[in-house]
Amino acid sequence: MNTLRSIPPVDKVLRHLTDAPLPRVMVVQLVRRELERIRQLGAVPSFDDLVIELRGKLREMDRARIQRVINATGVLIHTNLGRAPLGSEAARAVSEIAGNYSNLELDLASGERGSRGVYVESALALLCGAEAATLVNNCAAALVLALTHFTKTQREVIISRGELIQIGGGFRIPEMLEATGAKLREIGTTNRTTLEDYEAAVNESTGLILKVHRSNFYIEGFVESPDTRDIAALARKRDLPFLEDLGSGALIDTSAMPGLEREPRPRDAIEAGADLVCFSGDKLLGGPQAGIIAGRAEWIARLKREPLFRAFRCDKLVLAGLQQITESYLADPGGAESAGIPILEMMRLSETELRNQAERISAGLAKSPLRAKIVSATDPVGGGSLPKSELQSCAVELRLPGCSAEALANRLRELPVPILARVTHDAVRIHPRTVLAGQEEQLIEGLLQAAGSDGAL
Ligand SMILES: *Cc1c(COP(=O)(O)O)cnc(C)c1O
Repeated sequence: MNTLRSIPPVDKVLRHLTDAPLPRVMVVQLVRRELERIRQLGAVPSFDDLVIELRGKLREMDRARIQRVINATGVLIHTNLGRAPLGSEAARAVSEIAGNYSNLELDLASGERGSRGVYVESALALLCGAEAATLVNNCAAALVLALTHFTKTQREVIISRGELIQIGGGFRIPEMLEATGAKLREIGTTNRTTLEDYEAAVNESTGLILKVHRSNFYIEGFVESPDTRDIAALARKRDLPFLEDLGSGALIDTSAMPGLEREPRPRDAIEAGADLVCFSGDKLLGGPQAGIIAGRAEWIARLKREPLFRAFRCDKLVLAGLQQITESYLADPGGAESAGIPILEMMRLSETELRNQAERISAGLAKSPLRAKIVSATDPVGGGSLPKSELQSCAVELRLPGCSAEALANRLRELPVPILARVTHDAVRIHPRTVLAGQEEQLIEGLLQAAGSDGAL
C-alpha cells in the first residue's frame, strides 16, 4: 500500500479518462471525490487500480442516464421500463411540439390568452362519455387534487377497507389521501363491504365517497362490494360527490381479447353514475404519463380552480402526445385496429405471430454458442392492471454453456442497448411480445454480442 504522498494529481488521473462519455465536469467531480475518499481512508491503491475503479464508477453513472432498452420480459406495462411506449405518430406529435413554439395558452382566433389543454380536454370527455374532463401529472395527482377539493370543510372521505391498497414503489393510497388532510372513514372489512356500510358511514362531515379499483390484485371467495351503480345512487340521494379511481384506464373492452379479464372503462363508470372518474394515461390507455379526470362539468370546473391544479398541470409534450392518442381512439372507438397504440398492438399479437417471431430470433442465434429453445409461456399485462389475466404466448429460452442464467442476464443489461429478459428455470427467457416492431434485429445482435463476450469464441 502506498502512502498518502503517492495520491496522484487530479490532472494526471483525468488524462487517463478522456474517453468517458459524460460531461467533463462530472468526471472531474468524480475524480476529486474519489481522491478525497482515498485521502480520508489513508489507503492508496496503485494508479492502475485507481483508474480501473474510476472507470467502473463512470460506467455506472453512464448507465444511470435515462436511455432506451429492449423489453424482452413480455410484461406489457412494465413500471420499471417506463410503462407504455408511445406509438410513432404520438412520438412524432410530441417531437413537433417540443421543437417549436405552440398555441399552448393562446387562443388563435382572438390572439388573446387561451386556456391550456381545452381541445384535448373536450376530446377526452367525448371519449369517456363525460360532460367534461381535465388532466394532471398522473393519477396520484388527480386523487390528491380531488381529495383536497372535496374534503376542505367536510373532512371525511368514505372508503372501503378492501380498497386501501398499495400501488407499488411503496406508495400506499391511504397514506397519500391522508396527506391531503382528509380523514379516511374506513368501512367494511377486507373482503366484504356492503351498501349499508356506505349508508351508515355518511354523516355531516362526509365530503366524498371514493371507490378505488383493485387494479393490481384480486380477492376471491367470501367477498362482496357494491357496484358503482349502487354507490352512485346512494351518493346522489345524500347529495355527495362520488369519485371512482379506476387506475388503469382501459378505453377498450379488454375482455374482447383472449385471456384478458374485463377492466372497467371510464365510460362504464360514468354511465353507472359516478360523478367523477380518474385514471392513468400511461397504463392501459397507452399514452404519456398523465392523470385524467372525467365527469360532471361543474366538478371538473371547480377542480380546475384549485390552486393545486396549477402545481399538477401537464406539460405541453404530454398534451401533444395525449392529443394524438385521444384522436386515434376517437377515430377508432372499438380499438379494432389498435389505433397505432403499441400496448394494444402487443396485446393483440396472436400465438402464431409470436411463434414466428420466436423462430426468427432463434434462427438468428443458430451460429452462436447460445442454446435456444422455443417454449410456451404467458405474458402478464403488468403495471398494476388486469392481475388475473395472462396472455398465452411463447418465449425463446436461452442457455449459454459455462455461464449461469443470472450472469447471462447481467451481460444483456450491459449491452449498448440493454436487453431486459426474464430468468426462469435456470435459463434466460426472451419474450417476443414486448420486443417492439423494428427491434428484432438489434435484439439478435445484442444476444450474439453477449454470447461472444465471454472470450470463449
Ligand atoms: C396506478 C394507480 C394509481 C396511480 O396512478 P399514477 O398514474 O401512477 O399516479 C392510482 N390508483 C390506482 C387504482 C392505480 O392502479
